[in-house]
Amino acid sequence: MQRQILYNETQIREDKVKSAKEVLSKLNSDVKINTYKDYVDEDSIQKYLKEKNYDFIVDCSDNFKTKFLVNKIAIESNLRCVIAGIKDFYGQIITINPKETACYQCVFPKPLETPPNEGPLPVIGVTPGILGTLEALEVIKTALGLPNLENKILMVNLIDLRFNIIEIVKSEKCICSG
Ligand SMILES: [Zn+2]
Repeated sequence: MQRQILYNETQIREDKVKSAKEVLSKLNSDVKINTYKDYVDEDSIQKYLKEKNYDFIVDCSDNFKTKFLVNKIAIESNLRCVIAGIKDFYGQIITINPKETACYQCVFPKPLETPPNEGPLPVIGVTPGILGTLEALEVIKTALGLPNLENKILMVNLIDLRFNIIEIVKSEKCICSG
């Protein structure tokens, strides 16, 4: 798919984790990359989190269920996290510092219902490119202690080219409080 810039036609039928590692290793051979070919669920995330000391979770999933799971795991593990979502020309992104700031579930108390006959969300290739780059920016800024999207949600509208920041507050009733 055109939006998946780590892959090209010569890699068709290869495992995506293998192709991604090959391409990224050519970009910088000093970076150590661990790949896991597995489905994302609570058991698999917990298993891989135990293997290493991680600093940050970057959610690049394409569904609400996984985003809620990533948010929950980030809170339970006290790991900073950035979560982005897209649909056609629109996106949102939020950065979470579990003990300090509002989380994804403070903003979206439960997954939005997708009508059963609607199918996957439509996507134009540039939208995940822009939101994915913003996620990388959030990781860098958070690591450097620069202003980031904690207690804020950035709404991206690529039709009108508008970027709006909404201030959000931690909910006392949320899983991140208590
Ligand atoms: Zn919360």
